[in-house]
Amino acid sequence: MIIGGGIVGCMTAMELVNQGHRVTIVERNQIASQTSGESSWAGGGIIFPLLPWQYSEPVNTLTRPAADYYRALSQKLLRETGLDADFAQSGFLLLPKFDTNAALDWCKKYQVEVHAVNSADYDVQSLSGDDALWLPEVCQIRPPYFMQAMRKWLEQNNVTMLEHTQLAPLQETAQLDEWQTTGGDKLRADQFVVTSGAWSFDLLKETAAKLNIKPMRGQILLYKPEKNLKQMVYREGFYMIPRLDGYLLAGSTLEDVGFDNGITEAVRDELRIKAEAIMPELKNQPIIKHWSGLRPGTPENLPTISAHPTIKNLYLNTGHFRYGLTMAPASAKLITALMAGEIPQIDPTPYICAS
Ligand SMILES: Cc1cc2nc3c(=O)[nH]c(=O)nc-3n(C[C@H](O)[C@H](O)[C@H](O)COP(=O)(O)OP(=O)(O)OC[C@H]3O[C@@H](n4cnc5c(N)ncnc54)[C@H](O)[C@@H]3O)c2cc1C
Repeated sequence: MIIGGGIVGCMTAMELVNQGHRVTIVERNQIASQTSGESSWAGGGIIFPLLPWQYSEPVNTLTRPAADYYRALSQKLLRETGLDADFAQSGFLLLPKFDTNAALDWCKKYQVEVHAVNSADYDVQSLSGDDALWLPEVCQIRPPYFMQAMRKWLEQNNVTMLEHTQLAPLQETAQLDEWQTTGGDKLRADQFVVTSGAWSFDLLKETAAKLNIKPMRGQILLYKPEKNLKQMVYREGFYMIPRLDGYLLAGSTLEDVGFDNGITEAVRDELRIKAEAIMPELKNQPIIKHWSGLRPGTPENLPTISAHPTIKNLYLNTGHFRYGLTMAPASAKLITALMAGEIPQIDPTPYICAS
C-alpha cells in the first residue's frame, strides 16, 4: 500500500508492479489532477537539478539516470496508454551569474556536454555579456501529461486507486497490519510505503521517524508568446520552460509559508519582471495561468529513502524537495530494492540516499 499518489508514489507503484506485486495507492485527492497543492502536478518538469555542482554526491546519484529513464518511459507510456508525456530534449541555457569553473568541472566529471556560448544567439536578453553555458542534453517532461499517462498505465496494470481517501496520522507500533483512514475505515496490507510529500512529517510524527520535511511553496506563471523560446533558460534562481505546443512557463519561488497553497500578486509581479528581463517581448503578452505547489522541503535537498526506524513493514520514500520529478525513478528503484532485501539499510542512520 502506497500512501500518496504524486510522482514518487506512482513511480514506486510502477516499480512494484514490474516486480510482480499487487499494489494499492491511497490518495486523499485525485491522482494526476491539480488539487490542494500537491507538488507533482505543479512542477516545471526540468529533468535536471538547477545548478547540480552545488549539491552533494547523493543528489547527483539520484538525478543523473533520470533523463535516459524518462526518455524510455515516455515512449513506453505512449505505446501502452496512447498518452504523450511531451518528453523533450530542449537543452538548458544557463545565464550568469554562477560559478563557471565549478560548472565546467562538474560537466567534465559527469561527462555532460557543455558549450560556452553567446546568449544573444539564443533569443534571450542577457544582462551580463556573453559568458553563458549551453547544456544541450538537458530534458523536460510535462508533469500534468506525464501524471495522466502514469495513472492510465497503473490502471491498466491493475493497481487499485483509493482516491479521496485520507490516512490518519500513525501511532507507534512494532508491526503495521492496518492503517486507519480519517473516515474510520481500516486498510490492510503486507507492506506500506509513505510517499506523502510535504504531508509526510505530520503523518508520522507520533512514530519514531522524525522526518525533517516541511512544505516549501513554489509559484509558476504560464504564457503563450507569439514566438517561443527554443530552449529552457536559467538565471539566478529563475527559469523559463518552453513547451512543445507553444506555452511557456516562468518560475518559480521558494516560499516558507506552511500549507498555504495560494498564489500572490507580489510573486506574479516578481516573476513577470524576471521573465520580461530575459524575453522583453513578454511585456505585451497576457499571463494565461498562475499556480502554486507545495514541495516536500528538506535540508540539502536530501530525501528519505528508507525503512521506518522501528515499524517493521513500513517504508519511507519522501522529501525530494526541488527535484522529485528528476529523482523519482532512481528513488523508486532504491526503495523497492530495499523492500525486497536486495540492498541493506545503512546503519546507524535510518536514511539511505544512494546505494
Ligand atoms: C513550482 C514547482 C516547480 C518544480 N519544478 C521541478 C522540476 O522542474 N523538476 C523536478 O525534478 N522537480 C520539480 N519540482 C519538485 C517536484 O514537483 C516534487 O519534488 C515532487 O513532485 C514531489 O513528489 P511527491 O510525490 O513526493 O509529492 P506530491 O506530488 O506532493 O504527492 C504527495 C501526495 O500525497 C498525498 N497525501 C498526503 N497526505 C496524505 C494522506 N494522509 N493520505 C493520503 N494521501 C496523502 C497528497 O495529496 C499528494 O497527492 C517542482 C515543484 C514545484 C512546486
